[in-house]
Amino acid sequence: MRLKVAVLAGDGIGPEVTREALSILRAVAELGGHDFTFVEGLIGGVAITATGSPLPTATLDAALDSDAVLLGAVGDNKFNSLTPDKRPEAGLLQIRQALGGFANLRPSIAYPALSASSPLRPEVTKDTDILFVRELLGGLYFGAPRWWNKETNEAINTMRYTRDEVVRVARIAFELASKRRKKVTSVDKANVLEVSQLWRATVTEIAKDYPDVTLEHQLVDSMAMHIMNIPRNFDVVLTENLFGDILSDEAGVITGSLGMLPSATIGGAVNLYEPVHGSAPDIAGTGKANPLGAILTAAMVLRHSAGLEQDARAVEQAVHKVLEAGYRTADIARGGDSVQMVSTQQMGKHVHQALAESIDRRQSLHAV
Ligand code: NAD
Repeated sequence: MRLKVAVLAGDGIGPEVTREALSILRAVAELGGHDFTFVEGLIGGVAITATGSPLPTATLDAALDSDAVLLGAVGDNKFNSLTPDKRPEAGLLQIRQALGGFANLRPSIAYPALSASSPLRPEVTKDTDILFVRELLGGLYFGAPRWWNKETNEAINTMRYTRDEVVRVARIAFELASKRRKKVTSVDKANVLEVSQLWRATVTEIAKDYPDVTLEHQLVDSMAMHIMNIPRNFDVVLTENLFGDILSDEAGVITGSLGMLPSATIGGAVNLYEPVHGSAPDIAGTGKANPLGAILTAAMVLRHSAGLEQDARAVEQAVHKVLEAGYRTADIARGGDSVQMVSTQQMGKHVHQALAESIDRRQSLHAV
């Protein structure tokens, strides 16, 4: 299997966690005999310092010439006085737009070993494994007209979707659900909004092409409660841009730390993979950053760009294993005497070791 990955580590803890994610991808390539190549590029504050631009042309060209883009994080307080279009975060918005992904995937998983890190009770979070599929290029964040008239004190935003925009993201949700627990929960506000009525009618129509997948509809307000009450009831949650933004963050608390959350944006020219967290300037350079969000992001690269499902699962299981063994970075260090505090790098090494053992075991089983 050949895969070319553009690696944009970015600012703050971005390079620290990306290093660990890369070491996992290298291990998978080596152990499985795959040909992965990595091309590094600048983005964010480091790119402004080096070139004056948060997304240099060379970075964008390298990204567009790759099979996948792995991004760390951007953001550096020293650029806070610049206008928004010149700040590090502008590089992130520009690359997302240039790559054109319209489906944002955000898993929300309850790790039994981390149940003490979630504000929800373990019996509530138990067995949660949700995949949010959020439409990313339409809806309220992009619809026109949009303005704020400061003289009349009136402002407007527009929630707009076309049927085609709903069809393409719905297909992604059903395809993914058919490889998981075969259930799609589509979230809207169809009792009030016409745009949601179009959404619901379109998703219902697309569902007919996936007879093995169960479709249910939920209103966004009750969904916000269901996620907190019975999160294990959901498999793939499909929703529009604004609702997905809010619900996926809400469900993030089930896992227990921002440092544990991966994401992928697919459907465009090149898939973009990034942990959910930012550059965390408060802990950058201290060895405290949790690399597991970035490592789980690497697992998503394996699943969604390399088609290496077995290896993606092996990485995810290795993460489970090190958590079960009691290794913790500072953000997830709760739960008494049995835990052992480790640095970013040590956590990466433990996952690497658990992964190597599991791939070795798999290969020796094949050889028998
Ligand atoms: P943040 O996600 O960087 O940090 C929020 C809190 O979570 C901090 O206390 C941080 O220490 C902690 N945290 C985050 N990731 C962690 C990890 N892997 N391990 C342990 N702890 C972790 O959000 P913020 O502080 O609001 O923003 C900091 C900078 O990052 C800003 O410049 C912001 O614009 C930028 N940002 C970038 C992205 C991105 O690159 N995708 C996302 C959000 C924020």
